[in-house]
Amino acid sequence: MEYSKLVEVYEQLNKTTKRLEKTSIISEFLKEISADETEHVMLLLEGRVFPSYDARDIGIAARTMLKALSAATGISGDKIENEWKRQGDLGLVAEIIVKTKKQSTLHSAKLSVKKVFENIRKLAELEGEGTVERKVQLIAELLTSAKPAESKYIVKTILGEMRIGVGEGAMRDAIVWAFFGDKIGIKYVKEGNDVQIEDRETYAKYADAVQSAYDVTNEFALAAKAAKSRGLDGLGNIEMKAGIPIKVMLSLKVDTIEDGFETVGKPAAVEFKYDGFRIQAHKDEKGNIKLFTRRLENVTNQFPDVVEFIRNNVRGKSFIIDSEAVGYDRKTGKYLPFQSISQRIKRKYDIEKIAADFPVEVNVFDVIYHDGKTLINEEFQSRRKLLEKIIRQERKKIVISKFLKTSDKKHVEDFFKEAFEAGNEGLMFKALNAPYKPGARVGHMVKFKTMMETLDLVITGAEWGEGKRSKWLSSYQIACIDEDGNFLEIGRASTGLKEKEKEGLSFMELTKLLKPLIISEKGKEAKVKPKLVIEVGYEEIQKSPTYTSGFALRFPRIIKIREDKGPDEASPIDYVKKLYAGQKKI
Ligand code: AMP
Repeated sequence: MEYSKLVEVYEQLNKTTKRLEKTSIISEFLKEISADETEHVMLLLEGRVFPSYDARDIGIAARTMLKALSAATGISGDKIENEWKRQGDLGLVAEIIVKTKKQSTLHSAKLSVKKVFENIRKLAELEGEGTVERKVQLIAELLTSAKPAESKYIVKTILGEMRIGVGEGAMRDAIVWAFFGDKIGIKYVKEGNDVQIEDRETYAKYADAVQSAYDVTNEFALAAKAAKSRGLDGLGNIEMKAGIPIKVMLSLKVDTIEDGFETVGKPAAVEFKYDGFRIQAHKDEKGNIKLFTRRLENVTNQFPDVVEFIRNNVRGKSFIIDSEAVGYDRKTGKYLPFQSISQRIKRKYDIEKIAADFPVEVNVFDVIYHDGKTLINEEFQSRRKLLEKIIRQERKKIVISKFLKTSDKKHVEDFFKEAFEAGNEGLMFKALNAPYKPGARVGHMVKFKTMMETLDLVITGAEWGEGKRSKWLSSYQIACIDEDGNFLEIGRASTGLKEKEKEGLSFMELTKLLKPLIISEKGKEAKVKPKLVIEVGYEEIQKSPTYTSGFALRFPRIIKIREDKGPDEASPIDYVKKLYAGQKKI
């Protein structure tokens, strides 16, 4: 395919901001390209020559591009630089100077998509002496054959500055429209954004199939190729490959243990929720190990220690496992919160030193692929069984996540305490019979982070609400108590109350109780006699200069009124301090 065809598509895409129109432009184009061209074209459409998870980098500085432009056009570097200052965009500069130049030359060869793609890829592979000159040559070779508009897009692609504004959703839909348009009864007007899809149900089925293919390959080209040549079956048969990251399964959140059970069913798998960062570890058939973050960035080089654990402690010729890497203090052995190791993720130098200073333990919780077999459709419990066979656990290197199979709330409470005391964030509930759904937040696993050590706090003030809450006191100042009976504020709470009385403890009810206690009012703020005690849940206690206690609650949640308690029985400040110290994981 000629590169000029792709450029036409870029130009059309740039003319509109409407998503549906962009989708239809791409879908029309996809119908035209052959299976062999798909990979190049789809990547270039996204403005890249490597898939997003590929760590290879074209790495061309603006200065090198100036040299290439000069070499290709014979125009002096100074002149080009001046033009650059005027335009502020090297892509535009390329278009302008190639236009001037082309008027004086007679003919130019036609550029193919393949040639453009290959030359740009080579840029990333050059190393060693004379590299800059070789890079300049490769770029200049393209630019001498390029028409003005072509040169603009070549330059933008090389510099990583292509912005065609087509997101994942539009790409996916373009594939569905292109290859299954007749099946879903699609009607769209080319020039507008008036798209009608007659059969929404079938549409959802095809869209899901394309999305699933993308989720396990992270390349639309593979999904498009399969859809074009082998239809729905082709999409369903796309296999994941060790070495190519797949989208991670995500979790929903629950606030109570009951909700946890309700979402995933009984009995449930319950695991510690570690406070680190996700690592999807791959070993391919050749023994190469790669590590990816939750956002599928390749972090293999930053974690040589983890690479070794994976190499030495996981059995299998090839596999993909899902895990959480957690930092710990080398002296005390205690887990550290995520922030303490986050600096390792982007680190480019002194890797060995920082690995020694900030060690991590890998907590493995799933296996998605093993020895050539895709496991995403297996039940979670059988994946977990396999995990137990293939991981050779070594503390402070690599272990399997702590696990409990139960239907009993009391067991979960004890397990939560154990998790919390060991410095973890909470628990994960997982459905025993669920598949692994890449990229999805479908409730096969849910997180439960609320602490159980609730506080009983006295309401010392309140604020009148706004809008439909204006009749109610809707935000409450809450306080603990010191040895001398002084109330020390620890934050404000409003979450947890209901708008309607019959749904549970409501703003109305609390307002009724507080109104007679009002001592003074200033603007919307009311001071109340410290009488009413409420039980408050939260995610974390933080130090805070804002409140007289010196602490603040993160995400406070009102649970109930403690009618049985008087203000003098509110939680003492010493208790708050103790909880604060206990949650510190160092
Ligand atoms: P959040 O980041 O709050 O949405 O919580 C979900 C994250 O918890 C996952 O993406 C993992 O990084 C992490 N996590 C920690 N422990 C586990 C576990 N046992 N199972 C699954 N995910 C876990």
